[in-house]
Amino acid sequence: MIPRFRAGFRNLSSHGGSLAEFFAEKQSISSAKATGLFGNSRLDSARGLEAFSEASLRSAQKMDANIQNATAPSRDTVLQLDILSDVICKVVDMAAFVRLSHPSRHMLDAAQQAHETMFEFMNHLNTSPELYNKVTAVLEMPSILKTLSTEEVKVAEILKHDFEKSGIQFDDKTRESFVHSANIVSILGQQFLNNIGPAQDSLVFTSSELVGLDPYIIRRLRTFTGKVQLPLDSQLAEIALQTVHDTNVRKKIWNAVRTPSQSQIEVLTQVLQSRSSIAKMCGYKSFASYELTDKLMKSPDHVQDFLQSLSTTIAPLAKKELQTITPAGVQLDPWDHSYYLTRHTASKRGSSKDTVGALTGYFSLGNVMQGISDVCEMLYGLKFQPGSVAAGEVWDPEVRRLDVYEGDSRVGAIYCDLFNREGKAPHPAHFTIQCSRQVYPWEDLYEDPNLNIRNSGPGDQQEKFQTPIIALVCDFHTQNGVTLLSFSEVQTLFHEMGHAIHSMIGRTRLHNVSGTRCATDFVELPSVLMEKFASAPQVLNLYARHFETNEPLPLDLFKAQQNLSMTSENWETHHQIVLSFIDQALHSEAASQPSFDPTAIVSGVLKQHSLYHVNSNKQYAQFGHLVSYGATYYSYLLDRCLANMTWEKLFKDDPLSRESGEKFKSAVLQWGGSRDALECAQDLLGEFDYSQVAQHVK
Ligand SMILES: [Zn+2]
Repeated sequence: MIPRFRAGFRNLSSHGGSLAEFFAEKQSISSAKATGLFGNSRLDSARGLEAFSEASLRSAQKMDANIQNATAPSRDTVLQLDILSDVICKVVDMAAFVRLSHPSRHMLDAAQQAHETMFEFMNHLNTSPELYNKVTAVLEMPSILKTLSTEEVKVAEILKHDFEKSGIQFDDKTRESFVHSANIVSILGQQFLNNIGPAQDSLVFTSSELVGLDPYIIRRLRTFTGKVQLPLDSQLAEIALQTVHDTNVRKKIWNAVRTPSQSQIEVLTQVLQSRSSIAKMCGYKSFASYELTDKLMKSPDHVQDFLQSLSTTIAPLAKKELQTITPAGVQLDPWDHSYYLTRHTASKRGSSKDTVGALTGYFSLGNVMQGISDVCEMLYGLKFQPGSVAAGEVWDPEVRRLDVYEGDSRVGAIYCDLFNREGKAPHPAHFTIQCSRQVYPWEDLYEDPNLNIRNSGPGDQQEKFQTPIIALVCDFHTQNGVTLLSFSEVQTLFHEMGHAIHSMIGRTRLHNVSGTRCATDFVELPSVLMEKFASAPQVLNLYARHFETNEPLPLDLFKAQQNLSMTSENWETHHQIVLSFIDQALHSEAASQPSFDPTAIVSGVLKQHSLYHVNSNKQYAQFGHLVSYGATYYSYLLDRCLANMTWEKLFKDDPLSRESGEKFKSAVLQWGGSRDALECAQDLLGEFDYSQVAQHVK
């Protein structure tokens, strides 16, 4: 039995002060010991980044030659290929982050160049028949296979699959058409994402048609003719849908906003058909079957069962919500939804005596971070300690480093870039900069002071590991030196820290399966589960205190505010279900038929599942996730159900139980992607079928 920590404790750690102060006070950067980005002294300038990239490329080329020259495949083939891909990823991942986040033009350019060079080399490796043959041989030779750990087998399979994504297994003719289809997906997919907006730029109205819309907005949009020009590809169109009184005007706006250009439909059709051809060449019936084999869901049939069962649970609740917001005698059409929802929420808010603002004082960034740290220490024995940043280590003086400890061992680092600033991308995200993996005495890296090596194990059996480094980006606003969060920002922070914890605990020996490098329909489980902690009374009790008075959050006030935002919860879930059905239908076998017509397919799905009489059946060609998720859009819904099941089973009664934390760690977190997601889920939750999982959406 593992002893439990008591709620409310502070300063258990011996490594430093509280995070509440760390995030509230100005950071002093030590100039005594200058270094480079992420503590890698080679990343101290644009020139340094270039040199790091060049050195990594040379080292990767040397390793490539070594693997190719090896006389026979062996266990080392897998290790060496994993290390080779780590050398490349350390440049590609770092450069992908730097080019998004660094304020210096020179650094951006150097990162862009490094990214391109390494990416090109990676493509060269992915189409190398020699490497592919070596990895296939390993998997086909029982004498080698039996010497591999499960982790190594998994990595060998992943590498083989990655090679096959470039069509390497085919004869020349088939490969040519494979590469052709893959190029269409890549080029047209990007084109699709770049043109998501409506076909029409704007609509023109008279001021009287727009009654209800904020007069200030109307004045701003008035043209010299006296008419009002409403831009459709902007937040203003959504505001108009929420506020304009005339239902016919709303209908016009709604239709125009949801109508893409015809070419957008054609581009998407080609992407879907090319994906279908790729799947066929690889021996699958549809792109969905091809994509789902290595996911938790395994097959499109399971996804259908899951979504169907979800829909049966949610549709009646969503209909009820629609009835609640609809005035008597009105037939609710889709262009009326935002309008009546806004009115309903406003009337609810009006009758509630407190405002949302009253809660914010209880969620100061420092207190929330300290709360997350306490939760992680109690559940998993992980401690987050304030790190002192050296000159050159961070890309903005407001970026702070948290050092992650397990016992006395520093196991990783989280760079927190949490504050809003000009030119910064506003989307919260978790970036992997460096993965966990074992480092061997024959590697140059073994004695490298730059890359955060950690020792593990006793005395002469000691092993060395490269520690995970991640960057966490949010967009919080600071006013008068205080950063107060809304509750939805608190949930975002818990969510992103859920990914960070996965990276820190999933410290595998091979980098290809470390941390969040697992099945994409399973990767949101740790983060969505973490969100649930944010609102548990025992956890709120730990962290939600007023930043000025230190008063604990009044729980009844909090619950009342939570209820206010529940008006359209089921409707939103239902909307996600319909989009997931569309995603599945468009990636089904239908895409291989000569008569493939995506608009007709979407109409069929809407007829069966939509809650409205009228639908916009072309809007699917504005749905970017069709390209970026491709047959796995259901993932959030699935992981939400799994998180609810995990919560019920392990944490509901005692969210701070170390025993439950250990269970989640040993079933899910510690594996990264080295164990099949279904095996992890069954270890955690017992046997289940997919339609039963859906019962836990609420
Ligand atoms: Zn996430």
